Amino acid sequence: MVYEGKTKIVRIVGDHALIEFKDDITAGDGLKHDVILNKGSICAEITAILMNFLSEKGIKTHLVEFLPPNILKTVPLKMFPLEVVVRLKKAGSFVKRYGGVEGEELPFPLVEFFIKDDERHDPMVCFDHLEILGISTKKQAEEMKEISIKATLVLKEFFEKGDFELWDIKYEFGLSKDGQIILGDEISPDTFRLRKKGEIFDKDVYRRNLGDPMKKYEEVLELCRSLSSQ
Ligand code: UDP
Repeated sequence: MVYEGKTKIVRIVGDHALIEFKDDITAGDGLKHDVILNKGSICAEITAILMNFLSEKGIKTHLVEFLPPNILKTVPLKMFPLEVVVRLKKAGSFVKRYGGVEGEELPFPLVEFFIKDDERHDPMVCFDHLEILGISTKKQAEEMKEISIKATLVLKEFFEKGDFELWDIKYEFGLSKDGQIILGDEISPDTFRLRKKGEIFDKDVYRRNLGDPMKKYEEVLELCRSLSSQ
């Protein structure tokens, strides 16, 4: 075993990294935690569908193959300890930090970088911090920003075909053996906000105790299955 995080286990097998999605769900820097049956398989399949779609649109991801029910075979990456958030609408920590109303449209996609560090509550950083802290060069940060915006616009359009609104989304990147910046980790209702006529289809159902999150996650999986087969 190479690494076990809050919601995934990563094992290096041969030339690949096998990422097992666990049934754990967490919020608030890991303070809120539950285990929900089938959550891992639902998020693994959603990630596989969306990453396949992104690679069809020219965005490189770590996905090699989905191994049902809950494993992704991936290209091994040396991950940047970063979360790159793209916001199309105001929500979550944006509203807490800067005010405004949830769901209000932003004039252009806003990109924010956070260092992954639960103890410090994932501090927000600018490109100078990243360079000074030795996390990434400014050029690498620029590239992550550019890929993140492109991926977000592709996914926004994907979900719009089902009349869903993508509000915000978080990406993680790593370097492949040959030094390319590749989109890694997952893309699921754990990592984006997705709404339809005010109804919540993402982890806010869990964060705010609004009922069974898996009912919504399953609907997102069905949506992804049907939109990707169109
Ligand atoms: N997000 C994530 N992991 C994190 C923090 C945020 O996947 O550790 C996602 C979150 O689900 C949302 C987006 O990134 O889709 C923006 O989250 P925000 O900064 O508003 O944080 P929140 O306070 O809502 O976790």
